[in-house]
Amino acid sequence: TLLPRPRPAVPRVLAVAGSDPSGGAGIQADLKSVAAAGGYGMAALTALTAQSTHGVTGVHVPPPEFLALQLSTLTADVTVDAVKIGMLATADVADVVADWLGALGDTRPPVVLDPVMVATSGDRLLDRRAEDAVRALLTQADVVTPNLPELATLLGAPVAADWATALDQATALAARHRVLVVAKGGHLDGPLAPDALVGPGGVLVELTAPRVVTTAGHGTGCSLSSGLATRYAAGGDWAAALAATKEWLTAALRAGPGLDVGSGRGPVDH
Ligand code: PLP
Repeated sequence: TLLPRPRPAVPRVLAVAGSDPSGGAGIQADLKSVAAAGGYGMAALTALTAQSTHGVTGVHVPPPEFLALQLSTLTADVTVDAVKIGMLATADVADVVADWLGALGDTRPPVVLDPVMVATSGDRLLDRRAEDAVRALLTQADVVTPNLPELATLLGAPVAADWATALDQATALAARHRVLVVAKGGHLDGPLAPDALVGPGGVLVELTAPRVVTTAGHGTGCSLSSGLATRYAAGGDWAAALAATKEWLTAALRAGPGLDVGSGRGPVDH
């Protein structure tokens, strides 16, 4: 149980995530999404990628102790109102984040965990051996935002092919780890893109928006999780924060192609 927290006018939101130089995903997306949601964005880098709108050509992971130093230095000074965790790259990096959250104890801010595993381009962003470390982090998160392949991996099940199965899997994951799960239907077909906030007892709120068919969409997951963290820090209500973030993201997806960034899968317009 967490201590009640004051609601800041401008929430101070920390992204613990990887860098995407193309600015569509990762830390760069997080900072833009936090700003778009009215927050003050901060970033501790877990990993650097070499990346364009066509995919990832390399990953560099600084020594995990350096992430620990970033986190301890920052939080010795700055009050963090919400944390978004993204790309963790290796088990050692995930363990550093778990130790840091553990040390905060009752003063731990709300945590949104985006369990980044494989980019849409197919490039791995998480060492296969690190999947258990990410599972262990679930117990320290308030909300987890897996896409359907990540949901299946966390649960050890086949990837859901329909929305009903996705909701069942999200409920199972929520019950197993006592965490809220955002089930995301963006990977399914159909005219609507459903999302849901799911708890151990089942669906708490379900939201639908028209599916945006677009060449953009790179970094959608990063942007959703950091926007959710920011709006929750401001309002204290996960369902309302998810609804507002989804509405914002639908517009950001529609506007993405207008940015004319790269010739591959371009960014959403934060
Ligand atoms: N690069 C980084 C650093 C990320 O954190 C992510 C996703 O979380 C991606 C790339 C992949 O984004 P997408 O699957 O939207 O292309």
